Amino acid sequence: MPKPEALSPQVSEMDEHLIDVLRHRVGKDERAATQHDWFKAAVLTLRNHVVDRWIESTRKTYDESGKRVYYLSLEFLIGRLMRDALSNMGMTREMEAALASHGLDLAALEDLEPDAALGNGGLGRLAACFMESLASLDIPAYGYGIRYVNGMFRQRIQDGWQIELPETWLAHGNPWEFDRRESAYRVGFGGEVVADGPDGAVIWKPAEQVEASAIDTPVVGWRGKRVNTLRLWTATALDPIRLDTFNAGDHVGALVEEARADALVRVLYPADSSASGQELRLRQEYFFTSASIQDIIRRHVAYMGDVRTLPDKAAIQLNDTHPAVAVAEIMRILVDIHGLEFNEAWEVTKKTVGYTNHTLLPEALESWPLPLFERLLPRHMQIVYAINSRVLREARKAGLDDAAVSSISLIDEGGERRVRMANLAFAGAHSVNGVAALHTDLMKVTVFKDLHQLYPDRINNKTNGVTPRRWLQQCNPGLTAVIKDAIGDQFLDDAEKLSDLNALSTDAALGERIAEVKRANKVALASYIKEVVGIRLDPDALFDVQIKRIHEYKRQLLNLIETVALYDQIRSHPERDWVPRVKIFAGKAAPSYHNAKLIIKLANDIARRVNSDPSVGGLLKVVFLPNYNVTKAEKLIPAADLSEQISTAGMEASGTGNMKFALNGALTIGTLDGANVEIKDHVGDDEIFIFGLTADQVAEKRAQGYNPREVIEQSRELSQALAAIASGVFSPDDPHRYADLMGGIYDHDWFMLSADFDSYAAAQRAVDTRWLDQKAWRTSAIRNIANVGWFSSDRTIGEYARDIWKVL
Ligand SMILES: *Cc1c(COP(=O)(O)O)cnc(C)c1O
Repeated sequence: MPKPEALSPQVSEMDEHLIDVLRHRVGKDERAATQHDWFKAAVLTLRNHVVDRWIESTRKTYDESGKRVYYLSLEFLIGRLMRDALSNMGMTREMEAALASHGLDLAALEDLEPDAALGNGGLGRLAACFMESLASLDIPAYGYGIRYVNGMFRQRIQDGWQIELPETWLAHGNPWEFDRRESAYRVGFGGEVVADGPDGAVIWKPAEQVEASAIDTPVVGWRGKRVNTLRLWTATALDPIRLDTFNAGDHVGALVEEARADALVRVLYPADSSASGQELRLRQEYFFTSASIQDIIRRHVAYMGDVRTLPDKAAIQLNDTHPAVAVAEIMRILVDIHGLEFNEAWEVTKKTVGYTNHTLLPEALESWPLPLFERLLPRHMQIVYAINSRVLREARKAGLDDAAVSSISLIDEGGERRVRMANLAFAGAHSVNGVAALHTDLMKVTVFKDLHQLYPDRINNKTNGVTPRRWLQQCNPGLTAVIKDAIGDQFLDDAEKLSDLNALSTDAALGERIAEVKRANKVALASYIKEVVGIRLDPDALFDVQIKRIHEYKRQLLNLIETVALYDQIRSHPERDWVPRVKIFAGKAAPSYHNAKLIIKLANDIARRVNSDPSVGGLLKVVFLPNYNVTKAEKLIPAADLSEQISTAGMEASGTGNMKFALNGALTIGTLDGANVEIKDHVGDDEIFIFGLTADQVAEKRAQGYNPREVIEQSRELSQALAAIASGVFSPDDPHRYADLMGGIYDHDWFMLSADFDSYAAAQRAVDTRWLDQKAWRTSAIRNIANVGWFSSDRTIGEYARDIWKVL
């Protein structure tokens, strides 16, 4: 073991610091410290450096009276923070060496950090990438959300079925957090609105209140340029224990208020199949939105004095409609508390707020039963009515017809009356953006057709991006080093500089080195998979990866059916030159989504059968890796050869997984959906495998009424695969398990699996052909890496900053 005197000055300084923290903060002797103690000491040591930058950044913003960006999101899928912070602070080497001098391995300590799964999928991960890019671009920003105690569920696979368990990411405490008890706000629910304030002003008297208090996590930008704040709210009861009740012997009843407050911050997406589940969800949304808006306005008034200048100093971005009640909350505070006239308050609100739409699916657009909304938020209901009458007046004045006016209304009057959150967000924002070019185009002709006609300047596009720090540098240090050797290190500060690789796309030596890194990543993944699920993989096989939430529109089922067809083909024609493939799946299904859970079971059923069939001779393996999260993605993406982005065209708003894979040199097989369209434009038509119907063709087919049975009968491969699954070939223990799932494809096939199957299978064979020519494959991989720098979230955030927030 090297002795401290062998350490460089920076390392020995880091080491002294580490030991000091271990003793005085963790309270441990280095002789007795456990791995967890060292992990904590390492984070706290690093955190000290981060905090110095944090304070500098905050001072600078106050001194310059800078405009701040406030990003409100119900989800922040941040994952682990240690490697990110070390790397962005430029301290990885020092920390590694300091730990090594005590015989410790940094990577092993990193593995002790829990994955902060405060999100569900792409939307939450986008928020996390945006926070990192905001800091990297030196833009003062706060992220606002909820500090879920259990977050997203942890997925276990038992007999092939998904089981949901609570995620206990806080079990060992969280060394990144700062408890800000002084930043606390009361959030009310229910009660009544009375008009007995001064001058007849309206006063909301809530029936209950909880206290929201802030817990801050620093977010470090690239090269430690700026440290911003992720402020997550936790809830406590105003009256945590009713002593009279407790002393009267009702010990549990005395704590009921605390339990109600606790329920607000327990889990992300409580099941909303029951009325109480729905109510909890709306309470969560209002809870974090109200606390955030109160915090933003308090800060503004404290430093700027006049609430009317809010839009000059604050840009509030709503990540989807979950925080859309912000529009009514800002109005309430401006009108009821600061005494602004309605019209003036409305202008201030609109100038401050921007709204990002993430879905076109009508069933995914949030709306609340009006009686629930009114009971929980009576004052906001009045404000929504007032906004609505204004919007409808404008619509009529603009000459819109009755149908358009009723689709614009903030209240859905068809059947049970509901409050439409997307319409509220649209009306109350000066900017409404989609997340990929196709998605934005479709917004204008589908969900927001009429609102777009009324406010034609509001919709704009901001194609999503991912942070290249986490999704290239940190998750794939091998590839990063090879790129650095090839083109220098400018790409670290400007991902679009990756385009310098284009000049080297046919360079055999570079192709070779990138292939070596890919193979090493595949070896590492194979050994991880062996450990977790016990399946042995050949690292020279083509790793074909589909990892994302399990959803019918994402069409894991299309991939599985093609897997069955391939299995069939390999067995019928063992003499052909098959490319050995490993099909890897991972993803969580919403707990109440029956078909999605059945698709997970099918993947596991197919895996069991295929992996144990000696007649495929190792040409095909199928893996379902449990509990997909950010940490798993960081292992899987650098090891992928092929990226599956195969949603039904028109249904994936953007996708961001697609970008991460291409950045790591995987080739994409995909439909012309979401950002795939733009990825194709950037990498070139020959470097991506596009198949299937376009969004227009899907819409046309659906409108015409299409007959999947006819299509299935014309495809022998497809009909055989469907029949095999339906008849229980993969589920001999329960032969009818998949009868209904397959029946859905024969009967309506809403997601167009049969329409796209032949084209998908043909694209897969084109993938094989390219793979057999390794030189061509390597060139394609380089061209992918070279041309997706544009999909950096730095570019995306730059566009938001210039066009929407006006902070650049
Ligand atoms: C990037 C990412 C997603 C989004 O993936 P899509 O393929 O775009 O749906 C979801 N979950 C995790 C953990 C991610 O890292």
